[in-house]
Amino acid sequence: MRPTGKLHLGHFTGALENWVARQNELDADGQRAFETFFLIADYHNLTTSLETSDIFDCTIDMATDWLAAGVDPEKSPIFRQSRVKEHTELFLIYSMLITASRLERNPTLKDQLRDLNMDAVSYGHLGYPVLQAADILLYKGNIVPVGEDQLPHVEITREIARRFNNQYQHPVFGDVFEEPEPKITKFSRLAGLDGKTKMSKSLGNTILLSDKPEEVFNKLRKAVTDTQKIRKNDPGRPEVCTVFSYHRRFSDPDSVESIARDCRSGALGCVDCKKACAEAISGELAPILEKRSGYASRPEMVKDILLSGEEHARRIAETTMQEVRIAMNIG
Ligand code: AMP
Repeated sequence: MRPTGKLHLGHFTGALENWVARQNELDADGQRAFETFFLIADYHNLTTSLETSDIFDCTIDMATDWLAAGVDPEKSPIFRQSRVKEHTELFLIYSMLITASRLERNPTLKDQLRDLNMDAVSYGHLGYPVLQAADILLYKGNIVPVGEDQLPHVEITREIARRFNNQYQHPVFGDVFEEPEPKITKFSRLAGLDGKTKMSKSLGNTILLSDKPEEVFNKLRKAVTDTQKIRKNDPGRPEVCTVFSYHRRFSDPDSVESIARDCRSGALGCVDCKKACAEAISGELAPILEKRSGYASRPEMVKDILLSGEEHARRIAETTMQEVRIAMNIG
């Protein structure tokens, strides 16, 4: 994840809860099923903004949200991309293994340029999926828990791994990289409060993980619903309503069914529906908020967690780069 500050519900449903589930998953023998690594992709911030004055605060805010949501630094190293130099080294090598035209076809890039009204793309922004491939493969990542918008990037990562293995072989074990699989959640594209298809900080349509119950309700009050449901008792269409999409994720299945029925019949007005939705969201956020306040008052501790995660990550990244150099005869 890029350190853009406090996280929103889209980050939570699309990625973070999936990460925590993988971190805590056990295999049949009761051992951890996966080794998990969580990267703060600070170089990736430069793709859309060169402003770095608040990058440290944004990093701490984001790491605080991760910890509050259940990322456990004893199990999963948390580390900054810029602190492990092997990311840029592998990125350079990978950038020779893919064509510029392949990167120009990346649909996520096209969406981003449109959403941010950018009329030109920098060389680094075009190549950002290549850096992402290095981020994943330095740790031999085989499962990448991401939101839907990242699927094209995992595909590019797979192509780069294949291309590397076709071109270079390690003298002892052959293929250096495995092609990773994406792992998306059921709510891998959470809509924004304004009804746009994606909740996103840059679109200003978010509910934050750190929002208190009254903030959640105030934001939801202004959320776009079915534009044809004008008066309270007009029949509504839950399938086109953003607030209903939140109910599907945060309310219990029985309530979701009765909300859909009562919206359709006109028995349920948008204000009551939003109140129930705010309660469901805040109910789920309550333990995260509580845990967050413990970390938020101790940013030095969060920084120490990053420093020790970076030491751990560096050891693995160095080993992978040695393998790469041996395979390429530059070792
Ligand atoms: P980013 O902040 O763009 O680096 O995204 C970090 C992670 O959150 C990625 O895996 C995204 O796919 C995921 N994500 C961001 N926004 C949303 C959203 N609105 N719905 C679902 N997943 C999202």
